[in-house]
Amino acid sequence: NVILAIETSCDETAAAVVVDGVEVRANIIASQDIHRRYGGVVPEIASRRHLENIVPVVQEALDRAGITLARVDAVAATYGPGLVGSLLVGLSYAKGLAFALEKPFIGIHHLVGHIYAGFLEYPELPLPAVCLVASGGHTSLFYLVSHEERYLLGSTRDDAAGEAFDKVARALGLGYPGGPELERLAHKGKPNIYFPRAWLEEDSLDFSFSGLKTAVANYLRQSRETGQDICLPDVAASFQEAVIEVLVVKTLQAARRKGASSILAVGGVASNQYFRRSLKTAALEVGIPVFIPRPVYCTDNAAMIGCAAYYQYLRGQFSSLDLDAVPDLPLEAL
Ligand code: ATP
Ligand code: MG
Ligand code: FE
Repeated sequence: NVILAIETSCDETAAAVVVDGVEVRANIIASQDIHRRYGGVVPEIASRRHLENIVPVVQEALDRAGITLARVDAVAATYGPGLVGSLLVGLSYAKGLAFALEKPFIGIHHLVGHIYAGFLEYPELPLPAVCLVASGGHTSLFYLVSHEERYLLGSTRDDAAGEAFDKVARALGLGYPGGPELERLAHKGKPNIYFPRAWLEEDSLDFSFSGLKTAVANYLRQSRETGQDICLPDVAASFQEAVIEVLVVKTLQAARRKGASSILAVGGVASNQYFRRSLKTAALEVGIPVFIPRPVYCTDNAAMIGCAAYYQYLRGQFSSLDLDAVPDLPLEAL
């Protein structure tokens, strides 16, 4: 089974060829560096760049995979959530290809795609599993029972973890995207400043990161006002530790409560090395195996979309060519 998958929900134009849901024959990601100069993604520019990139990116995926369109069994694309202009480029192109090839089209929820990065790398992942999705727009815990059955256990009530990384990075004068740059800076510092952790109600599996972001901003402002020296690497390390401690503790709490057989962590923040080490160390103590895809499958990519589509293909769950982009596609649709 050969799936050609396309992902254009934000600012990466991505295409992949995935065989039998596990073998990545090609995984092409064209990142749009132009947004750096604006300190964030500019939707208008993103969709225009997708338009320029989509044909060569898909062609490169096919070339690298060494296959022709005739060998493709289904075409998949992300249909939401994301930026509407960005989504429309990949979605329309995928639907057009499927129509021309007379092959099934499969629309994928972007977050289902992130979760399936786990099954792409670990097809035998022990279920039921608790899965943390920590990305730029979402921070949620899911209970994965089977490929057909999953439940939402908790979500962020304000900022996503990746969003907090991006905003704090900006406050520290780092570039965009902030996550990787903040991690690099944190590596040079010590977590010796206390920033508050929002644990919320006793047994809540929800998250909240906006207070932490504000605490960092206040710390920087007060230090400047009082002329106190600011060690930016220490601020970065302290912030990073605060976010990651909450992510790790809540994920383990969920896994223990549900009696999960394994823990999966995905999304851009799961590419953070300190996070990966912290979660693995903490889970070792309670004896629950942890699975985290390699970093390139944590951030946006089309291989994860191809893997998610493969499992839908097996169940004959194809999408109509009428499927529209849904920028605010809810978690419940998952
Ligand atoms: P969503 O998937 O919710 O729609 P997105 O697609 O923009 O959002 P991802 O591509 O999964 O998000 O991840 C990008 C986010 O991950 C950004 O917020 C980025 O700062 C963060 N991120 C990436 N690398 C790291 C890292 N090493 N440490 C911390 N955060 C990181
Ligand atoms: Mg991006
Ligand atoms: Fe994403």
